[in-house]
Amino acid sequence: MTEILVVAEQREGVLKDVSLENISLAREMAGNDGNVTVLAMGSGIKPVGERLSLTNADVVLIADDPHLKDYTYDAYRHVLKKVAEERRPDVIIGGHTSLGMDFFPGISVALDMGVATDCVRAVRNGGIVTVTRQLYGGKIDGEFSVEGACIITMRPGVCKPCSGGSVSPTPFAADFSDLKNRTSVRGYEKPPREDVDIEKAKIVVSVGRGIEKKENLPIFEELVNSLNGSVLAGSRPVIDSGWLPKGRQVGVSGKTVKPRLYLALGISGAIQHLSGMSGSDFIVAVNKDRDAPIFKVANVGVVDDIFKVVPAIVKELKNQAQAK
Ligand SMILES: Cc1cc2nc3c(=O)[nH]c(=O)nc-3n(C[C@H](O)[C@H](O)[C@H](O)COP(=O)(O)OP(=O)(O)OC[C@H]3O[C@@H](n4cnc5c(N)ncnc54)[C@H](O)[C@@H]3O)c2cc1C
Repeated sequence: MTEILVVAEQREGVLKDVSLENISLAREMAGNDGNVTVLAMGSGIKPVGERLSLTNADVVLIADDPHLKDYTYDAYRHVLKKVAEERRPDVIIGGHTSLGMDFFPGISVALDMGVATDCVRAVRNGGIVTVTRQLYGGKIDGEFSVEGACIITMRPGVCKPCSGGSVSPTPFAADFSDLKNRTSVRGYEKPPREDVDIEKAKIVVSVGRGIEKKENLPIFEELVNSLNGSVLAGSRPVIDSGWLPKGRQVGVSGKTVKPRLYLALGISGAIQHLSGMSGSDFIVAVNKDRDAPIFKVANVGVVDDIFKVVPAIVKELKNQAQAK
């Protein structure tokens, strides 16, 4: 029977979304008669177990121990190795997060399994796992096949999170007496709090390189001021140029947003951007290039100049507000 093992990720008792995304992928890979096991590691992680109990995994293992309070490679490997020896997974799935980047390459050596990192798609057919990885900064999709047991790390935001299901978490007690931990965590430094939280906004007005310069930002800020509950965000070039703070970046190296409305203004729609916003309920894109990839995910696409379209929308919103 096919066995897929998902290594769930949590920080301070909060489950990362990528874990739920990976459970839905595991479910697909396992097929009708396969088994999906989820392993969560940490200390005092009852809420994580509770959240995982509401998924369509078959088995949820909770390794809750003070040795696992902070992520360290050695302690996590200690547990995962024991779980893998017991369950003999055909595929281990983790998130391509900062933890995943540190953990899984070493695990592939420890378990003698191949590893494919930063995958944006993965399927399993007849025992062969085929993954898609992006090459040359997202310009080319490369397909790679792995025969036999393997590890894959999935880019956050590329799979839909699993929904529904019910499973009772099972404690997984590991004996740590023979653990040789070479690292200890001295503490975490949190980045300064941002003035706005783009992940919680109902409407995200997102600007790209198409705005040309920082001096043009007020045009788009006016739109934000006219739309109740909206915040201003941007693509990476906008952040890298220092036009907006880092906490406003949408995308794989920024934040993942799922608002009710996402307005993409002068954004081409590179895959690294799409992975941070394609889960939005409704996407409106304005771009003067009709072949811009953003139109592939947009519900409404306007092929026009943002410097014409945005002031027209603001004018209309103001007219409507006055008419009330
Ligand atoms: C490892 C890695 C991580 C990355 N992480 C991220 C990330 O987190 N987030 C992210 O956004 N990117 C990320 N990128 C960069 C990504 O690959 C793209 O380069 C970036 O998203 C492009 O931003 P853009 O769409 O604003 O700019 P461009 O690709 O330059 O597109 C600008 C668009 O504006 C349009 N335009 C220009 N003028 C107008 C106008 N007047 N009216 C209407 N349309 C106009 C153009 O037609 C064009 O489509 C990452 C790249 C790498 C390699």
